[in-house]
Amino acid sequence: MTVTTLLETEIELYQKRAPRSKQLWERARKVMPMGTASNSRMYEPYPIYIDHAEGSRVWDVDGNEYLDHNLSFGAMVVGHRNPAVMNAVAKQLTIGTMYGISHPLECELAEEICRRFPFLDRVRFSNSGTESTLHALRLAKAFTGKPKIVKMEGAYHGLHDAVMISVKPGSDRWGDSCIPSPVPASAGVYMDHDPNTLVAQFNDADCLEKVLQQSKGEVAAIILEPVMMNIGVLPPKLGYLQAVRELCTRYGALLIFDEVKTSSMSYGGAAEYYRIFPDIVCLSKSVGGGLPLAAFAFTEEISEVIESRKMMHAGTYNANPVVVAAGLAALRDVLTPYKYESMRSLSDKLAEGYRRILAKAGVPGIVTNAGINGAVTFGVESVSNYRQWSTMNTEMWTAFWFGMVNRGVIPQPYWWDEQWTMSVAHTEADVDTHLAALEDVAAKGLGSV
Ligand code: PMP
Repeated sequence: MTVTTLLETEIELYQKRAPRSKQLWERARKVMPMGTASNSRMYEPYPIYIDHAEGSRVWDVDGNEYLDHNLSFGAMVVGHRNPAVMNAVAKQLTIGTMYGISHPLECELAEEICRRFPFLDRVRFSNSGTESTLHALRLAKAFTGKPKIVKMEGAYHGLHDAVMISVKPGSDRWGDSCIPSPVPASAGVYMDHDPNTLVAQFNDADCLEKVLQQSKGEVAAIILEPVMMNIGVLPPKLGYLQAVRELCTRYGALLIFDEVKTSSMSYGGAAEYYRIFPDIVCLSKSVGGGLPLAAFAFTEEISEVIESRKMMHAGTYNANPVVVAAGLAALRDVLTPYKYESMRSLSDKLAEGYRRILAKAGVPGIVTNAGINGAVTFGVESVSNYRQWSTMNTEMWTAFWFGMVNRGVIPQPYWWDEQWTMSVAHTEADVDTHLAALEDVAAKGLGSV
């Protein structure tokens, strides 16, 4: 069958398997835009509703069981209901959920983060990835006294205005390939209100230098994900991160690694993995063990602008004790160096399986992976930046996703810009289950146009 017929068949089957989810979604639509709490959670015809989760699995309200590689957009690296995290949370619940006053665990967690990023020695907490990049960028501007930042075309760093620029720009607005035009990524974001965000092309240090030259010394920071993970999985070319580090130093800009996702590549995140040391690191997702924790870490020297009260940073929920207890258990007791190694090896095995199966079935595309994440980009031969990635075949991807879900595997979050995540709860047998489902979908005509 052709991929178009396969997609129709799979969507029909999906609806047969999930009638209760449909009912809940129809009810929710009357009180929530799209019927969901986040635009990213809505897809046609309607999303499944989850009833409960355990380890590497989730169950929907219709009783279907799924092997879960969505893992809450990469946040649940400890696995669902991890016992160490559950115990730490239960213990904290007996002594209080929130004080708005300092408590002992926050210092322990800050120390743990500094152990992982030994070139940084100060930490502040917040509640989401969005907040961590917002504060990190303000910190860079406050420290350097410069107004501008550079982000990469196609990169997502959260929802605040400074980074809601050129997230998924349409090709008619790209502008120059070396110095891309900044494009607002949402209604309500105005470039003329905030012309301080410049855009560069990932994996091209020469073009980045041109952007820096044009900005005449006004750039406070370059923010990037060391592996771009909001366009599938796009690893840096050899030498690229080193070149960015050198450019930052030469042009007096701070280097910010958004490690909201990449921190789960290894004990010390992408910084340790690639041996490149940024000035500020943004953390969230896996560090919270399933609760809403975020942090940004920086040097003592940079810290002076907060220490001296020149820069404001606060937040009612910062370092909430329940969340911090979860984060501390996740980082100290669960996500040990050995665990990262075994998750990486499972993810490598999954990636090799994808490559073998898709090649055998003649499905065009590439499989890219780094650390504990991976993704398939259909219908392309190579990708080194957002523009190349955006030529992918989304119909094949959609047929792949529904086909996998109907076979009991959530291969990654819905939307082709996401990727699979491995958790400590996943096993070799889970990888085999995942690949058996892929083999079946691939054989049904995934590559036939
Ligand atoms: N940075 C990166 C790299 C992300 O992937 C995300 C979320 N997917 C964010 C920032 C924003 O995080 P949050 O959704 O917690 O605000």
